[in-house]
Amino acid sequence: STALVWLRRDLRLADNPALQHALSVAETVIPVYIHAPHEEAPWEPGAASLWWLHHSLGALSNDLQRLGSRLIIRSGSTPECLESLLAETGATQLYWNRLYEPAVIKRDQQIKQQLRDQSIEVQSFNSALLFEPWEITNKAGQPCKVFTPFWKTCCAQGVHRLPLPTPETLPAVDPELTSIPLAALGLLPTLDWDTGLASSWQVGEQGAHEALESFIDGAMHAYKEDRNRPDLAGTSKLSPHLHFGEISPLQVHSACMRAVAEGRYPGEDRHLLHFLSEIGWREFSYHLLYHFPQTPESPLDTRFERFPWPKTDPEQLRAWQKGQTGIPIVDAAMRELWHTGWMHNRVRMVVASLLSKNLQIHWLEGARWFWDTLVDADLANNTQGWQWTAGCGADAAPYFRIFNPVLQGERFDPQGKYVRQWVPEIAGLPDNYLQKPWEAPAEVLAAAKINLGRTYPHPILDLGETRQSALQAFSAIKQPP
Ligand code: FAD
Repeated sequence: STALVWLRRDLRLADNPALQHALSVAETVIPVYIHAPHEEAPWEPGAASLWWLHHSLGALSNDLQRLGSRLIIRSGSTPECLESLLAETGATQLYWNRLYEPAVIKRDQQIKQQLRDQSIEVQSFNSALLFEPWEITNKAGQPCKVFTPFWKTCCAQGVHRLPLPTPETLPAVDPELTSIPLAALGLLPTLDWDTGLASSWQVGEQGAHEALESFIDGAMHAYKEDRNRPDLAGTSKLSPHLHFGEISPLQVHSACMRAVAEGRYPGEDRHLLHFLSEIGWREFSYHLLYHFPQTPESPLDTRFERFPWPKTDPEQLRAWQKGQTGIPIVDAAMRELWHTGWMHNRVRMVVASLLSKNLQIHWLEGARWFWDTLVDADLANNTQGWQWTAGCGADAAPYFRIFNPVLQGERFDPQGKYVRQWVPEIAGLPDNYLQKPWEAPAEVLAAAKINLGRTYPHPILDLGETRQSALQAFSAIKQPP
């Protein structure tokens, strides 16, 4: 028989349950990618995600070819493309790995129903999570809204699966079967803004495994402390690889367990356990997105529907987006994002707090900018990250905890390496003024060749005053109506 494997964000050959299942039941297996971004509306992939997707599909296509197969690419309406592929190939089976975004779930359910009605065997698998969102509940049998008990329940349940192997060879695909050339999908930008991205990443399954192995051998040994430091390479940078399914959380978990078994880490190592708990945050975000599918647009904490997020000051928003706020750690972070498509978690929280609290600009404006510029833009993690920081999500930072970007900079970028890298125009300032150039005496600014307001902006806001006004706005909604 012939089976189609519909690849989506599981762009890998190893530990791919849909592919493995197809290989175990069918003689001919056809890997298919269908480009239909409009079906993910209102969260169609942004520009940076499309850039990653282009390179990831390219890598997958090469890997498939090496094993004797070929990636068939189509674009348009997914149900129509699938119908047509089934007719062209005579396939009677269709397999895919599950996704959890509300628009995608709806589409996939319709496709499943429609094709089953036509006697096509359709089956979906879990390739993206350690725990399906419906497998974990609180004591009352309800979805969890607090991370710690969620993760405790996951850990108590344990992971009892091992990653599936990479197939050694794959059946050939009929050379007559047409495929759109990858370049024709137009995923790459027409303007040349992606050179920074290209020099920052090795996209694809192999790049994902290299990133994981070098992290386990290196930075994971000090992860618990160094993960907070944007000036160090203290984290795994696996997020875009995980988002596109170039590597699975099961493979990450299993590599960590192997490192313990081989004596590279003690059992119960605090760095390793902390790293796994961050993978747990990813699981938690998916749990929330699945059970509260309204959250990409609406706050989980419904009190915040009444929150006066009145300002969409386009000039302030623009200054934030371009890294021109006059607050060095914020500008460094926003420029790192623009240049590399990634931003360190600590400063994601700092810039999100500044936008949603000090500037009182709606968190969705920030979420949308991240969506377009992050290579790891992920509806579950981005929604959870923004709502957590804005204070309106599950298990949120209390609203009154407003990050002070100066103190955050002094604490987590103590020698100013991060700020100097991304905001070179103030690199000459001594450490004690680097995070707050507006406090530097005139002679210090002159010695560093800085003309505030000309070579680097004055801060676009007063941190103290805006903090007070954010707290006031919050007190208006604190009590239930
Ligand atoms: P590591 O520290 O090495 O962590 C390993 C993996 O765990 C990550 O790759 C990621 O998959 C997961 N993880 C780590 N921290 C978190 C977290 N706080 N929440 C959920 N999962 C986590 N992450 C995204 O993948 N996509 C997003 O669109 C996204 N948007 C965010 C927006 C805001 C405002 C905030 C505060 C956080 C956001 N995060 C997002 C979470 C986090 O910042 C990134 O996952 C992390 O910085 C990725 O770097 P890393 O792979 O080196 O992380």
